[in-house]
Amino acid sequence: MKEFTYTALPTRVIFGAGKLATIRDEVDAIGATRALVLCTPPQRAQAEQVAELLGSRLADIYDGAEMHVPIEGARMARQLAAELEADCAVAIGGGSTIGLGKAIALEAPVPIIAIPTTYAGSEMTPIYGITEDGLKRTGRDVRVLPRSVIYDPDLTMSLPLGMSLVSGMNAIAHAAEGLYAQDGNPVMSLMAEEGIRALSQGMPALVEAPQDKEARARCLYGAWLCGTVLGHVGMALHHKLCHTLGGSFNLPHAETHTIVLPHALAYNSPAAPQAMERIAAAIGASDAAIGLHRMAAKLGVPMALRDIGMKETDLNRACEIALADPYWNPRPIEAAPMRDLLQRAWEGAEPQ
Ligand code: NAD
Repeated sequence: MKEFTYTALPTRVIFGAGKLATIRDEVDAIGATRALVLCTPPQRAQAEQVAELLGSRLADIYDGAEMHVPIEGARMARQLAAELEADCAVAIGGGSTIGLGKAIALEAPVPIIAIPTTYAGSEMTPIYGITEDGLKRTGRDVRVLPRSVIYDPDLTMSLPLGMSLVSGMNAIAHAAEGLYAQDGNPVMSLMAEEGIRALSQGMPALVEAPQDKEARARCLYGAWLCGTVLGHVGMALHHKLCHTLGGSFNLPHAETHTIVLPHALAYNSPAAPQAMERIAAAIGASDAAIGLHRMAAKLGVPMALRDIGMKETDLNRACEIALADPYWNPRPIEAAPMRDLLQRAWEGAEPQ
């Protein structure tokens, strides 16, 4: 058996329909008294619901969260938190809003209580990302790890079906790469397999009935598991490639993950057979990469990079960027198969 080292991260998790109602108790539990609520403009109504529950613990609402956490917005939020003497941030939303909370927590003693409303998983990780001059700088710092997370499936009812499905595939990507991580461990592998299983069962049920409460809960449960894996072990080819494509060609985050994942897994398949077996078992297929590709087709999510704004003429440059920065991957990153991977992902072809 492979040796391993496992350090558990100390986030408290509250899971269940209606659990948003416990937000004030969570603020009290971390000893805070003035909470700054963070959201995007479209989620203002949900933030106001939080504000009402917070009562006298509310400092204010900041509804300026944006995709990829631009430094300008982060500075404004930091300044507001300081002016209001906020002693905690309550981030209600997806990875972008939780990312804004992390940008504040990185520089000030403002712990985060996260209330995720997508399946992206940022709430369970000490990873932050801030975009300055067009470049997204990412890092790990335990100060940005949320102290407590409320998973309330009721809050995901409003997440449009298409967004729910690509977000779910984004979560599966964390677990899939976690299964062959260099610093992987048996606990994370159990969580990864169960996370993939939960999402691959929950998502088809959402296609049938987007308001199915049990399916929503199942997907959010899977998202928790997959996010936990992302927080504990290192990622490889798939995440690096999506970061390159998203950052350099301005492609949407979750859709890019959805399209690239089967191809990245096909690339790594010869070097990580046990991980592939576990992924395949979790989705009920005989092959992980082809199984995920077919699952995506059935769900009706985007399948080709060309359909989400990538130009064919940019594929060579994408390949060069992907090869420029060496990083650990179970299979060495080589030019010809990488270019082939990108071509197939661009066309939406079956992975090979
Ligand atoms: P997002 O946070 O950008 O949300 C997309 C849109 O959906 C926003 O307008 C948001 O307000 C809206 N939305 C979210 N939940 C909703 C709901 N329940 N009902 C209606 N609208 C809703 O998208 P995301 O995919 O969650 O996050 C992507 C970002 O998170 C990327 O920048 C990515 O890099 C980052 N991320 C970071 C980590 C990490 O560990 N640091 C992990 C995953 C993702």
